[in-house]
Amino acid sequence: MVTQPRRPCTHLIPDPRSTQTGRGKMALKVSESMIVQSLRDLVQVPSVNPPANTAGCADVLMAICAAEGIDAERIEPVPGHVNVVARLQGSKPGKKLVLNGHVDVVPPGENWTVDPFGALVKGGNIYGRGTCDMKSGVATMLMAMVDFKRSGKPFSGEIICQAVADEETGSEMGTIHLLENGIGAGADFAICTEPTSLRIELGNRGLRWIDITVKGTASHAGRPHLGVNSIAYAARLVEAIQSMRFTACNDFFEVPYPSISVTQINGGHTINVIPERCDLSVDRRMLPGETFDDVMAQLQAVIDEVKAENEALEIEARVRKGYWDPYLIAVEEPVVQANITAFRRVMGTEPTIGSKGACTDASHLANIGKIPTVLFGPGNERMSHKADECVSIDALVQATEIYSLMFEELLGD
Ligand SMILES: [Zn+2]
Repeated sequence: MVTQPRRPCTHLIPDPRSTQTGRGKMALKVSESMIVQSLRDLVQVPSVNPPANTAGCADVLMAICAAEGIDAERIEPVPGHVNVVARLQGSKPGKKLVLNGHVDVVPPGENWTVDPFGALVKGGNIYGRGTCDMKSGVATMLMAMVDFKRSGKPFSGEIICQAVADEETGSEMGTIHLLENGIGAGADFAICTEPTSLRIELGNRGLRWIDITVKGTASHAGRPHLGVNSIAYAARLVEAIQSMRFTACNDFFEVPYPSISVTQINGGHTINVIPERCDLSVDRRMLPGETFDDVMAQLQAVIDEVKAENEALEIEARVRKGYWDPYLIAVEEPVVQANITAFRRVMGTEPTIGSKGACTDASHLANIGKIPTVLFGPGNERMSHKADECVSIDALVQATEIYSLMFEELLGD
């Protein structure tokens, strides 16, 4: 069993400071109202996942690209999962920059005080499902592209904007599909525009979902000694899993340890039968340096301990299809340096630099696409997946300016 270090790591990264009080100082070629409208149009087309039909959002994005003379294509690996890839080509060949954001959103859930798809503008914010996570990132990356094209600034290489489907349920028909088909893979830089409160984030933790089945033997509940109670052994397993400790530690992450949580349990079928089967689901968050093999070996060791208590027990662990590997890039990477420079120019302050405790498509850009990827977006992730989700209009304008300046920094002639 791995053990927790005696002294806990210190968090080096402070809480996100508010970066949404100032207003950008650079002259944009897109107006605030155009930026606001692009996000409102996206929010007003529900793209709830499941079932994740993103065709309506794709229509909005394709219309903007058509009006601005930006090349764009729809990529639909299965009906309804529509990705949009927009491209700006420089006057000479050169480096490639990918921007990536998802347009699918989680269901609205309860307790909204406003229409989740109304895109209400109030008090300097826009309200609705996806305003933060992360149609704001998608709208602003496209508006930055429009701004940069309108500016006519000379550049080399290519800007590839990926507005993807299917992020909230595994990315197979979104970012993974694009990268595995060579779209953006191997680019020189990437920006994942997930909400970061305009913090510059250099990586995210990894994730695996694992299902465990505990099988015992059924018997009449009046003669429990003739059965093997799967729920009782599953309970021991839950306790053992929740007690797991890990040696990996990285202070650069918002959550500096790996974590493991039993998140679902289902067992038995009626009240007077000793249950034959109990199923658990486990969420395992990984730090850079941990591999899938490590994760499964640690879990198997815990399973084997419980299994050893009764030879009639069967316990099987199966990993689900979705996967996100952890990653962390160096602050010296050109994409990070460009982000810092652009942030300073627009905000007039020093950026906060950190990394993400959750996982995102940046994981796929970095690990499958082999692209140094920074996470940087206008929303405050504490609003993600919540009722009355909203984003600040100031942050939208600031993000648009910062992305556009990053294009110039990274690709400008
Ligand atoms: Zn997201």
